[in-house]
Amino acid sequence: TRTQDEEDLPHATKKTMADHLRKYESLFTLTPQRMRMIVEAFKETLEIGLEKHGQIVPMIPTYVFGWPTGQETGEFLAVDLGGTNLRVCLVTLQGDGKFEVTQSKYRLTEEQKQGDGQDLFDFCASCLKTFIDSNFEEGSLQPNELLPLGFTFSYPCTQERIDQGTLIRWTKGFGAANTEGRDVAEMFRESLRKKALLMQTFQNVPVELTAIINDTTGTLIASAYVNPKTRVAVIFGTGCNAAYMERIGSIPKIKHLGLDDGAEMAINCEWGAFDSFVHEHLPRTKYDVTIDESSNKPGEQAFEKLISGRYLGEILRLVICELIDDGVLFLGQNTYKIEIPYALDTAFLSLMESDPTEELLMIIGIFTHFFALETTLAERQFFRALAKLVGRRAARLSACGIAAIVSKMGYLEDGCAVGADGSLYNKYPSFPDRVHEGLQDIFGDKGKRVLFLRTFVGSANNDEDSERQGYLHTCLNTR
Ligand code: BGC
Ligand code: MG
Repeated sequence: TRTQDEEDLPHATKKTMADHLRKYESLFTLTPQRMRMIVEAFKETLEIGLEKHGQIVPMIPTYVFGWPTGQETGEFLAVDLGGTNLRVCLVTLQGDGKFEVTQSKYRLTEEQKQGDGQDLFDFCASCLKTFIDSNFEEGSLQPNELLPLGFTFSYPCTQERIDQGTLIRWTKGFGAANTEGRDVAEMFRESLRKKALLMQTFQNVPVELTAIINDTTGTLIASAYVNPKTRVAVIFGTGCNAAYMERIGSIPKIKHLGLDDGAEMAINCEWGAFDSFVHEHLPRTKYDVTIDESSNKPGEQAFEKLISGRYLGEILRLVICELIDDGVLFLGQNTYKIEIPYALDTAFLSLMESDPTEELLMIIGIFTHFFALETTLAERQFFRALAKLVGRRAARLSACGIAAIVSKMGYLEDGCAVGADGSLYNKYPSFPDRVHEGLQDIFGDKGKRVLFLRTFVGSANNDEDSERQGYLHTCLNTR
């Protein structure tokens, strides 16, 4: 039995693991007072971004004017280029806040993320072509009927119109060449032309690229379509960001356009860039510094690097590696597998936390199956506690960003709804509760007036849930 093994192996004792945990607790814990300080700095940053162009948190005007009525109807195509997957969807809006989605999902390869930008858009266009091929019958649309295509492009782009967007910088580890500084809508049109999709009859389905939109802006509008109380939208996925609706008169940097001051426009905050380069406001540990310095964009996306799904597993892994180097963990075992950067996926954190067994069998499964490592119960409890610390810090920092928008806009009195989407939000069971708890630490009881809506803009679907289930079983069955 385990107990016998535990006596035989030269593992850390329960006591020393508890001692180590105390150290990490103090490193990763955020007090309410600290959170309120972050909120203040955040609010200032948001204001500056609205005043001046070219700020670190760019507060991008999206040219999405106002809220949907919920009565919109029709068929629309969407291509969603996210941090991990590419999705192609056909959305049918039925009015009364109802809609249907048909979608296909393709996993992006590292070559696609790092290769030439035009090739990446060519890939998007071929996926769209395949999708149309299999979902539309020839002649199913009226002649000359154009099918509008929206391009959800989840990277910071400055926009002059809704159908144009210049990539400021890649985030989330992307690095495709010849793309930063260019109009990505035009690059995508070029790829569509090559596939003879743009404005041309293909299976009698002529497509027109009418909008380029950030995933947060998409979530904001989609969430409002089903719940008119929506005021803000947040993505907690591979990346992290928020959008909200702003009064045009409160966006000084676009005053020269002479738009109606009283009208509203969605703002894509790009808050993942908060505290970039200066690192004045956020509590960074040495693990965060390592992640930043070994990333393809050192200094950038400072807030996102503490929060998003791309990095949480890596933070935990770096702590484990430190304890390996210090001779605390896995003495006498070959640790090369866990020493590979990014080997510990963020999904493991959520699995570790949700292990329902007393012996923590799923954690045994993860370590033996993926890293060929034996663990004691004390170590597994330690890993689980560590996962909680890292996940909790991420959720509480996110709460600071949400609080900044809510407080700046004065939404606390009447309350508001926040649309939320992304793998971290949807698949890390304790994450939403912790964001909520964080808001209450900042605002007291009034924090409860901020309600979250799970908004499925296409990123969450049942396949992924069943993938996760299957995966859970794999872990359990390795025992
Ligand atoms: C991007 C944002 C995006 C967010 C969530 C960030 O890395 O800069 O544009 O909204 O990830 O996908
Ligand atoms: Mg996405």
